[in-house]
Amino acid sequence: MPPCCSGSPLLKPDTSIKEKEGYFTAMTRRNPPPVSLLLLLVLLPLLAVAPTSLAQDFDFFYFVLQWPGSYCDTAKSCCYPTSGKPAADFGIHGLWPNYNDGSYPSNCDPNSPYDASKVRDLLSSMRQKWPTLACPSSDGTQFWTHEWEKHGTCSESVLDQHDYFQAALGLKKQVDVLQILQDAGIQPDGGNYSLKSIVSAISDAIGYTPWIECNKDEAGNSQLYQVYLCVDTSAAKLIQCPVLPRKRCGSEIEFPSF
Ligand code: 5GP
Ligand code: 5GP
Repeated sequence: MPPCCSGSPLLKPDTSIKEKEGYFTAMTRRNPPPVSLLLLLVLLPLLAVAPTSLAQDFDFFYFVLQWPGSYCDTAKSCCYPTSGKPAADFGIHGLWPNYNDGSYPSNCDPNSPYDASKVRDLLSSMRQKWPTLACPSSDGTQFWTHEWEKHGTCSESVLDQHDYFQAALGLKKQVDVLQILQDAGIQPDGGNYSLKSIVSAISDAIGYTPWIECNKDEAGNSQLYQVYLCVDTSAAKLIQCPVLPRKRCGSEIEFPSF
């Protein structure tokens, strides 16, 4: 299996290669032998490198935001980053290239490790807008490394490392989910809100339907954990989601404080 596809239930790159091979076979059958031989010579080296180049291919991004209150009030708890308690705001979790069939590529380029020197000008914004809450406390490097290596390397054909982190920060600036919810009277006050009201508030504000992911607090209550927005392949424009993740929330969910 190519390294690109470990997280993917459907191996799109492989499928594409098979489609290519079928096309190739059909073409060569229709052509007289000298042409097909020539084609074979030209196409064989291309097919040999196909898995790497096709691995860069994807259909859209999920831009995923996490509510820190819901990451921290679980049985597992959380650890604040070494820079201190993050703002009571949705933080970036990731910008994830995805396929329209719901599968996704991952870990596409082992030769492209996270390199903080490439995002030096963004680090202070990343600390604020992309804070890590995993334990033990850290400065965020592990979280950003994971997100770049698992997801970012799969959109390298469009965004290099600097542009990838910059694009995510730009999207965070573009959509203020907390403000949108508060404007609709939905506050992080530990109260319960209908999932419908949360989805409607965001849809009405941005013009596209978000996907809401829930998790459970220590007492087992379902709560607003992550907001998924869909973004075009340039990572600049919000779009209607071509496919939604499968996990579902209850109809009433808690919005915990942080
Ligand atoms: P979980 O299993 O907790 O839903 O997801 C674990 C991780 O798998 C996520 O943090 C993310 O890295 C990846 N992941 C889960 N669902 C999706 C998806 O629908 N699309 C993409 N691109 N990645 C996903
Ligand atoms: P994903 O679920 O995106 O595949 O994996 C997230 C990885 O980043 C996990 O190894 C997790 O421990 C680490 N991580 C570090 N900080 C955070 C955080 O604030 N939120 C989440 N969801 N994962 C974090």
